[in-house]
Parts: sequence; C-alpha cells; structure tokens
Amino acid sequence: MLILMHSEARSEDRAQLMELLCRIMGSHQPITTASVDGQEIIALDGKQLNSETCLLLSQQEAVERIVMLKTPYKLVSKVLKAEQTAVQVGQRGHSTIVTIGGPAATPIIIAGPCAVESREQVLTTARAVKAAGANMLRGGAFKPRSSPYQFQGLGVEGLRLLAEAREETGLPVITEVMEPELVETVAYYADILQIGTRNMQNFPLLLAAGRNSLGRPVMLKRGLSATIEEWLLAAEYIVSAGNPQVILCERGIRSFDSQTRNVLDLACVPLLHELTHLPVIVDPSHATGRSELVPTMARAAIAAGAEGLILEVHPSPEFALCDGRQSITVEQLQSIIREMQLISQIMRARTELSAVA
Ligand code: PEP
Ligand code: MN
Repeated sequence: MLILMHSEARSEDRAQLMELLCRIMGSHQPITTASVDGQEIIALDGKQLNSETCLLLSQQEAVERIVMLKTPYKLVSKVLKAEQTAVQVGQRGHSTIVTIGGPAATPIIIAGPCAVESREQVLTTARAVKAAGANMLRGGAFKPRSSPYQFQGLGVEGLRLLAEAREETGLPVITEVMEPELVETVAYYADILQIGTRNMQNFPLLLAAGRNSLGRPVMLKRGLSATIEEWLLAAEYIVSAGNPQVILCERGIRSFDSQTRNVLDLACVPLLHELTHLPVIVDPSHATGRSELVPTMARAAIAAGAEGLILEVHPSPEFALCDGRQSITVEQLQSIIREMQLISQIMRARTELSAVA
C-alpha cells in the first residue's frame, strides 16, 4: 500500500496519521517514508488490512490518496508513476550532464575498460571513447573477482584516476561499489554508483546506496540468477532508503549452456517498461562474454527499447587484466554508436507514428 501525502499536510495531521499507522501495523512492521518526484509517500505492506481500515486511512487529513498495489515492490512500480523516470547524471565540475531515461531521452552509451589498470590505460580509453561518441566512462576500481588470485582493482587510486579522466574529457564516470562502508568514498569520486550482479541482494549495501550516495544515482545490475521481481525489490530497497535515482542494468543471467558467459534476457526490457518507471540499460559485454557477439546484441537491445548500453572497451583487449575476451575495440564502439543512432531514429519515428494513429 502507498499513502500519498498532501503536499501541505500539517505536522499534527502527519503525526496523527503515523500514530494510527503504528497502532494498525504493530511495532515490528516497517513503515517507510520516501519521496518520488517530490511527492511524499508512505509505503507499507498493506496485505492484511481490510477495507474499513483502508477507508479510515484514506480519510485522514494528511492523506491525499491511497494506492493499493498487488506487487511486493511499490515505489518503483509503474502503477505509482506512469511516466518514465529521467535520471540526471553529472551535475558537477566540468562534466557534461547526461539524462538516462525519461520521455524525451535518447539512448546513451557508457563505455570503458572492465577495470582501471593504470593512468595511461584509463586516460587513453577515456579520450578514445569520447571521440567515438560515448556519453559516459566506465571502469572498475574495486573489482569483484571470482578468484582471490586475480587482479582485484586499484581501489581508491583507481577512483582518483577516473576523476582525473572526467576532469580532462568531461565524461561523467560510473564505477562499482562493493561495501556499504565505501559508498560515500565512491560517491565522492563517481557520478553513478554501480552495484554489481554479485551484490544485487546485499541488503546493507543497497540501504547504504539509498542513504549515503551524496545524491548520486545507482545502477543496479541484475543478480546472476535473480528473478525480475527480486531485482525490482532490490531497487525498492534503494528507493525506499532515500535515493529515487536508480537505473536497472540487464547483464545476462546464468543458464546451463557455457557457449556464452550468460544468457541475455532481452525480453526483460519491454517487460520492465510495463512494470516499472525506472530506466533500463543493457550490458551485452557481460551478457555474452564474447566481443564478436557484442555489436549484434547491442543493436538488439536498442531495438528492444533499452535506454542505453554499457560496453567494455579496451585499447588492447588481448592485454586487458580483466574481461579482455568480451572487450571491444574503439573502432567497434564507433560502429555500434553509428548503428545505435540509426536504430533510435527508427524507434522515434515508430513512437511518433503510433502517437498519430
Ligand atoms: C563489471 O561491470 O565489470 C562487472 C563486474 O559486472 P557484473 O557485476 O555484471 O558481473
Ligand atoms: Mn567486467
């Protein structure tokens, strides 16, 4: 259940409502106050409430209206907000402002190496992806590696190098955060926080990204074997903890066939557009694990309606310290961007045609 509050609710009416809710729900049931598009909303699990109780709540002075939802996720639901959320990135220093999602946005490209390896590697890649037309730079400073013997990333030094690349190129940067305690540090340097597939259900991390991200958006990657509902509930943790700027990223899910690294679930893109107002971007690099498949899946993702792509690009993929097999070259990136522009023109024409019909 969502209780939408009057914008000018008096504090005594608000207090009375909270008291009533605590009486009805009992002391163990979480009652969350959040804000979506400037509207104050109280979210709770209203399954047990009968119609008289719902009526009583809707009659409280502080309440504008009540929205009942069948889904366990609420604040991220399209039932609450039909219009797509536009996530604003990069409002600082010299960096460009990038809009991800929303009614007027065109698909964006985030490109860069899997991991920040050195100053030269990250600056060379940043300049090259910018020249190719990318909108943002990616690069892992803290790397979640399957083996403890693999390169683990440069840590805070990697964050500093990303910030330097932003200063020089103007590209906002995205990088992964793995620990709740590091959310503020990563947010200090980055423009978007990435929560990786292995941490999609790391609830303390989700809460920290909701509370301490210094206003930075969060890109939440789909868990290795997560259902769409689990994924949206993970997003709900971030939004209900105070950060409404969440981007979902489909990066493939585990299956039985090892020919590709994962299975790219592209059907989730139009499905998520039915279920949630959050923007959806696609990562064909981790989804396929094979650079030769990335361009085709990139085209398919844009045609499926994704609000953007995140692509692993390396100046010399064969020497990459991490995920070289799936990393594309700058030339391949350039041709993906050209194709993406053509496909998004067709998509726009299609939307205009269906608006006229
Ligand atoms: C990455 O983006 O480099 C990464 C580790 O992604 P994922 O969490 O999807 O595996
Ligand atoms: Mn990677």
